[in-house]
Amino acid sequence: MAETSQANRGTIFAEDAEVLAHTEWPGDQFVLRVRAPQTAAAARPGQFAHLACDPLLPMRRPLSIQRVAAGAGWVEFLYKRLGHGTRLLARRQVGEILSLLGPIGRPFEVAADVHYPVLLGGGVGIPPMIFLAEWLKARADLAPATFLGSESARLRRSPGSLSRS
Ligand SMILES: Cc1cc2nc3c(=O)[nH]c(=O)nc-3n(C[C@H](O)[C@H](O)[C@H](O)COP(=O)(O)OP(=O)(O)OC[C@H]3O[C@@H](n4cnc5c(N)ncnc54)[C@H](O)[C@@H]3O)c2cc1C
Repeated sequence: MAETSQANRGTIFAEDAEVLAHTEWPGDQFVLRVRAPQTAAAARPGQFAHLACDPLLPMRRPLSIQRVAAGAGWVEFLYKRLGHGTRLLARRQVGEILSLLGPIGRPFEVAADVHYPVLLGGGVGIPPMIFLAEWLKARADLAPATFLGSESARLRRSPGSLSRS
């Protein structure tokens, strides 16, 4: 009989993650740091976690991992408050516990013949690039260039005029 599910490979952890820091930035963006030592130790750039935004909201929301500290045991995310889930997540306070599943997904790979990788990230595509850029610092054989872009509140207010004056 054909196997219908993959065996648990022990690479994804379910952790009760304590909120260590949660700060709001312009543009409805938030940086969330949680204690999740198993995820912090195992995560690689390009991976994400599934976060329970609120105990009363069963469907988790996926967020890319922006930064980890394996020694200190924390994981950091950058997210935009968008809909129901991220609105609830934005209310979580330091000291609260949220359920986290991670790390999930296939990490980035740098091909052996690449020496000058170019990292491009925009908006909520920025977090995995930050993780990758910090990870590549340890690679003396690589000289990465990173370009990150985010929407400008001034440009958004006046779509008819894109002047930066
Ligand atoms: C791999 C991955 C990485 C991401 N990384 C980031 C990031 O780093 N930062 C960031 O700001 N955003 C990221 N996003 C987008 C983020 O997950 C969405 O903005 C968020 O799910 C929106 O949820 P919401 O409830 O606030 O919005 P809503 O608009 O209310 O929800 C979006 C819709 O998707 C449905 N939905 C939500 N979660 C799931 C799920 N897990 N499975 C199926 N349906 C679902 C909701 O029910 C709703 O219908 C990522 C998405 C993916 C897939």
